[in-house]
Amino acid sequence: MSDRYVRQRILPEIGPEGQRRLAGSRAVVVGCGALGSFQAQLLARAGVGRLTVVDRDFVERSNLQRQVLFTDADAEAAIPKAVAAERAIASINPEIEVEGVVEDLNSITAEDLLAGADVVCDGTDNFETRYLINDWTVREGIPWVYAGVIGTGGLILPILPGETPCLRCVFETTPPVGSLATCETAGVLGPAVSVVAGIQTVETVKLLVDARDKVLRGLLRYDAWEASFTTVATGGPRPDCPVCVERDFAWLEGRRGSTSARLCGRDAIQLLPLEAGAPPPLRTLAARLGGEWEVSVNDHLLRARRDGMTVHLFRDGRVIVDGTTDEAEARSLAARVLGT
Ligand SMILES: [Zn+2]
Repeated sequence: MSDRYVRQRILPEIGPEGQRRLAGSRAVVVGCGALGSFQAQLLARAGVGRLTVVDRDFVERSNLQRQVLFTDADAEAAIPKAVAAERAIASINPEIEVEGVVEDLNSITAEDLLAGADVVCDGTDNFETRYLINDWTVREGIPWVYAGVIGTGGLILPILPGETPCLRCVFETTPPVGSLATCETAGVLGPAVSVVAGIQTVETVKLLVDARDKVLRGLLRYDAWEASFTTVATGGPRPDCPVCVERDFAWLEGRRGSTSARLCGRDAIQLLPLEAGAPPPLRTLAARLGGEWEVSVNDHLLRARRDGMTVHLFRDGRVIVDGTTDEAEARSLAARVLGT
């Protein structure tokens, strides 16, 4: 075994057996923003053998204050976060398998993306995706760790299906769109995110080395500015929970959720491909778009800008339109780029 993990292996809490368990584990980090960057980096350094990082977005300069896996050059070139994360992690620890997947986690992609996970780590910024993760993990009996950050603090909740309340037990309904503060309206303190992600990853490691009796039970709230931690006891699963008691997986089965999403913290709409099948090759499309469009393209996405709005077309056919919060306007602009 390499010297890489020696300081961790001599911990009685981990030991050679724990280190072997980590090496034999697969963790899926969903969302590679601030929380996801920290988690993916810490899990890779800890020696989790197989790491999948799923993210639907690309790097922007406003991410760099807190999203530790990315560089200014990644933002300049609009590299997808999953691609940049895979590259960074492979250079941090070449002894593990890491895969960055540029996709949206939704009811169509979830089965493929999450299959084989021993644990799922929440790096998302929205409840729709979290409810989907909750559906899949409860159905499969796989643990996951919820976390959220905003302002100078955040929340952490490990979920052990069958033992502890699931996310729907604790947060019964989706907060109405626009009702929550976002990183854009409220801001977010980078070091506070690192604390929340650090705790979240500690809980993930406990789950992977099978120290389930040590896992945090309850909802932990951290306030960096007050330097305070509080834990709210959550008890057992809610007797009328539609997910972990009645086993109704509405998000996973696509009965809840949507084919478009307003992206957290910015004026942008994501549109999922309406039909199966990839779009035309990005460079072909870029060559076709001329005149009024300001176009740039890399191996992963095409950017076409006009009238203060930017259409980002990914290779999987997804589109993110920046500069609007109006879905109809976003669809119309995307159609013009795709020529449909
Ligand atoms: Zn539940």
